[in-house]
Amino acid sequence: MVEMRKLNKHFGSLHVLKEIDLSVTPGEVVVVIGASGSGKSTLIRCINGLEEFQSGMLDVDGNRLVPLGKSTKALQTIRTEVGMVFQQFNLFPHLSVLDNITLAPMKVRGQSRQEAEATAKRLLTRVGIADQAQKLPTQLSGGQQQRVALARALAMEPRLMLFDEPTSALDPEMIGEVLDAMRELAREGMTMVIVTHEMGFAREVADRVIYIHKGEITEQGPPEQLFDAPQHERTKSFLARVL
Ligand code: ATP
Ligand code: MG
Repeated sequence: MVEMRKLNKHFGSLHVLKEIDLSVTPGEVVVVIGASGSGKSTLIRCINGLEEFQSGMLDVDGNRLVPLGKSTKALQTIRTEVGMVFQQFNLFPHLSVLDNITLAPMKVRGQSRQEAEATAKRLLTRVGIADQAQKLPTQLSGGQQQRVALARALAMEPRLMLFDEPTSALDPEMIGEVLDAMRELAREGMTMVIVTHEMGFAREVADRVIYIHKGEITEQGPPEQLFDAPQHERTKSFLARVL
């Protein structure tokens, strides 16, 4: 689903991603962990073309991205096939919950309003907020807004879902409901790349955990290996701080 080879990303003189090799197979759940500023967000933003890169190769579901943003066609396809949920929910504030979800399927996929609304209602039921469809985002709790963001992404029938700290902006009592929805999605076989600080969740849902340090993948493996028997000193000291 994702093939990244020797990818390098700079912001000016800052070398943010260094020779990153990463493959994600269909149905796999990959969790990315690492300190603040290590390049986690940049890594997943590269996967859906939100950031261009300077060298290396990236293939997302058969769409090839080349360095420095010269892949317009592939980029368009990737943006419709890859769903993303951010820390800040990024909902359209002036649109109802329902309209937030139906907008892209109608505009980009050419669905009728009827069809898009039927899907939206089904997805809202699935994330447990069917009764909130007519509200504006500001009338919802953070946890509810994030579940709308998830439903909105799923409405495009993504082949791959990216999450960048989806629960970091939430009050503690709302984290669980968002993680539950993600857990359910993982169980259904969605391919997912997740940046999170929720280590318990990572241990439970990840097929593989990747530890990134200063733009390099220091260590990766199944959660039980990475959390219980880390091989590198850097991984050990990071985990000692967060676990
Ligand atoms: P956090 O856990 O705090 O979200 P992160 O691991 O997601 O951190 P990134 O946001 O990927 O880190 O940032 C990696 C590095 O790139 C940081 O040093 C950051 O300051 C820098 N950076 C990120 N975005 C930009 C940008 N648009 N312009 C310049 N530098 C940037
Ligand atoms: Mg980040």
